[in-house]
Amino acid sequence: MGHRSLGLSDAADLDQLCAATAQRMAAELAHCIPPVPMGWGVAAAAWIRPDDGHSVFSPHLTAWRDHPVRAALTTAVTSQPGPLRTAPAVANDADAAAWAEARLGAGADPLPQLGDMPRRLVFVAIGTGIGGALIRDGVLETGAHGMAGEYGHMTLDPSGPPCACGGAGCWETLVSASALAHRAGRTSARSVLDDALAGDRRCEEALVETGRWLGRGLSVLTAALDPDLLVIGGGVSVGGELLLGPARTELERLLPGRRHRSAPAVVGARLGNDAGWLGAAGLAFRPERRRRDPDLGDPSPAEG
Ligand SMILES: [Zn+2]
Repeated sequence: MGHRSLGLSDAADLDQLCAATAQRMAAELAHCIPPVPMGWGVAAAAWIRPDDGHSVFSPHLTAWRDHPVRAALTTAVTSQPGPLRTAPAVANDADAAAWAEARLGAGADPLPQLGDMPRRLVFVAIGTGIGGALIRDGVLETGAHGMAGEYGHMTLDPSGPPCACGGAGCWETLVSASALAHRAGRTSARSVLDDALAGDRRCEEALVETGRWLGRGLSVLTAALDPDLLVIGGGVSVGGELLLGPARTELERLLPGRRHRSAPAVVGARLGNDAGWLGAAGLAFRPERRRRDPDLGDPSPAEG
C-alpha cells in the first residue's frame, strides 16, 4: 500500500480533484509491476452513502454535498490510458481511520485486561468536531444510511454552547479543538496543547476539563454500544494522558453497571494522520463490499 500527496490546496472543485487523482494514479502505476492495483480508496470528512459512494453531505467541504464521488472517480480513471479500471472505495474519514486503527493500530494487539483481541472498538476522532465509528469483529458498522458514528452531536449539556447542527451542548461543542482553545482563553488548540505539555497551568487545567467532558461522552457511548476498547484520535488527542487520564476517571465514575464490570480500555490512536489513507485503501478489500458491487472485480485474498 502507498499514498501520495497531490498538492491541491482544497477540494473546492471536486471534478478537478478527481481528474488530478486519476492522472496521478495512472502515472504512478506506469512504474508498478503489474501496473494494476488490487484496490484503491478515498476518504473525506463527508457523509458517504455506503451502497454507491455518493457523497450526501459535508458540513465543511461544500463541494462534497450531493456529489456522486465514486462514479466521478471511476469515470476519471477510466478515461486515462492504462489498465486502471477499478472503482474506488469511498469512505467517511473517521470510518476509514477507525478501520485502520482496528486492524493496524491501537486495536491490533490483545487487550491486557481482556487477555484477548478487542471485539468491539469505538473510535473517537477529536478535531474541528468529533467523528467516530464502531468496528465489530473487524467489520466497520456504517449504519442503515451511512450515518453511524456521528457521536459529536449527542447532547451532553442542554444548556451548553450552541452547535453548528442547530442543537446546544452537543458533545463536540464541549470537547473539540475550539472548545479546548476557548477554555484556555487562546485562539488555537495547538498552542494550548503545546503549552499544557510544557507545564502551563491554565492550559493543563483546560485539557483536564476537556478530558472530563470526553469521559462523560464515553460513558454514554459505553451505555449504548458496550465496547471493550475506546480509541481516541484526532488533533486534540495529542494531549495524551493529560486528556485521557481524566476521561478514564470520569468514565469509571459514570460507567453503567460499574459494580459488576470493568470499564472499557481508553487508549490513544497510534497511526496519526496515516490512519485515513491506510483505512481508505484497506476498506477497498472488504469482501461484503465486493459481493454487493460487481464493478469491483474479483474478490481479493486480503482480509475483510
Ligand atoms: Zn451538534
